[in-house]
Amino acid sequence: MVIRRIAVVGAGIAGLACASRLVASGHQVSVYDKGRGVGGRAATRHMRVGASDLRFDHGAQYFTARDPDFRSLVGRLVSAGAIEIYPNTVTNITDTERSPLPDEPRFVGTAGMNGMAKALADGLDVESSCQVMNCIRDAGGWTLALSTGARTGLFDNVVIAVPAEQSAELLLPIAPSLAQEAMAARTSPCWAAMLVFSAPIQVNFEAARVRDSSPLAWVAQTNGNGGDYSCWVLHATTDWSRENIDQSAEWVADELGKAFLRLAGIGMQPLQMSAHRWRYAQVEVSVGTPFAWDADLGIGVCGDWRLGPRIELAWQSGDALGSAISQTNPL
Ligand SMILES: Cc1cc2nc3c(=O)[nH]c(=O)nc-3n(C[C@H](O)[C@H](O)[C@H](O)COP(=O)(O)OP(=O)(O)OC[C@H]3O[C@@H](n4cnc5c(N)ncnc54)[C@H](O)[C@@H]3O)c2cc1C
Repeated sequence: MVIRRIAVVGAGIAGLACASRLVASGHQVSVYDKGRGVGGRAATRHMRVGASDLRFDHGAQYFTARDPDFRSLVGRLVSAGAIEIYPNTVTNITDTERSPLPDEPRFVGTAGMNGMAKALADGLDVESSCQVMNCIRDAGGWTLALSTGARTGLFDNVVIAVPAEQSAELLLPIAPSLAQEAMAARTSPCWAAMLVFSAPIQVNFEAARVRDSSPLAWVAQTNGNGGDYSCWVLHATTDWSRENIDQSAEWVADELGKAFLRLAGIGMQPLQMSAHRWRYAQVEVSVGTPFAWDADLGIGVCGDWRLGPRIELAWQSGDALGSAISQTNPL
């Protein structure tokens, strides 16, 4: 029986799914993430307004559970209180009509979108605020060079669970053929804006996919501790985000805020606005296989860019890689 020491780079849903599977198989796993917490693009941002701590899910908005294995995990997390049904009704808005989006169970984290990631990370060894700069191989195995200037201890295997473009950078010096695969995938950017109104606003939608001539692709009210405030998340279209990728967050918040007021047909100005640039937001071109595993090098690769732009697919990718690594060397 051989217990392996495995480093996972990235504590998004894919990295955490992989780490959970490996730990369940008995391996020793350390997860590293450059973010302040876990979840990656399944993200939650807090904003202080007066005495209120307002919460915004400014990345992924909700997730589906079509895969049976993922559905059973979702069932367990719902029972544990970590996730719940997405509360908003979703409307399709075009220039000419408004219609409801077909019904399908949609889920969110109970205390914010990163709730699912927190549940997956429970019991795992995760080091946050720590970017992996390089993976270095010598006769003893792998070590990671960290942004803190430190080097990790030795690992038998490394899992890269970050967006395609960032995977390619890490992989190029150590596994060129895996890097080539990552370079074939493509991720589009997305500007997100967060608006706070001092009182409820009168609109006839709770959340909407927008397919009209505005810069907006998605708008949704958020219910995170809002009290009397009305809080909204806006996502710009891919084209608009690409065109304006280097603009300041203040300018973007203002432009998207104005587009929202036009869409909603209201004159009330937001009390507070901010914006977040997702440089790598949604997978546009995926690889089509759930993971890659190079047994000679001992490197695995997973992430949403393997299968497509959804939390569920990121989880499937990470879980499948964790199973494959465990099966190549069962305990
Ligand atoms: C605006 C937006 C809207 C979306 N809407 C939806 C939706 O409604 N429904 C849905 O299902 N999906 C949605 N998605 C997609 C969904 O969020 C992703 O598919 C999923 O979260 C990807 O998970 P992942 O683990 O593959 O990658 P990520 O979540 O990106 O995780 C990668 C992690 O790696 C870390 N990292 C990167 N480089 C390094 C490094 N060198 N060292 C250490 N750590 C590193 C990052 O900090 C991050 O935490 C949306 C995404 C965005 C941005």
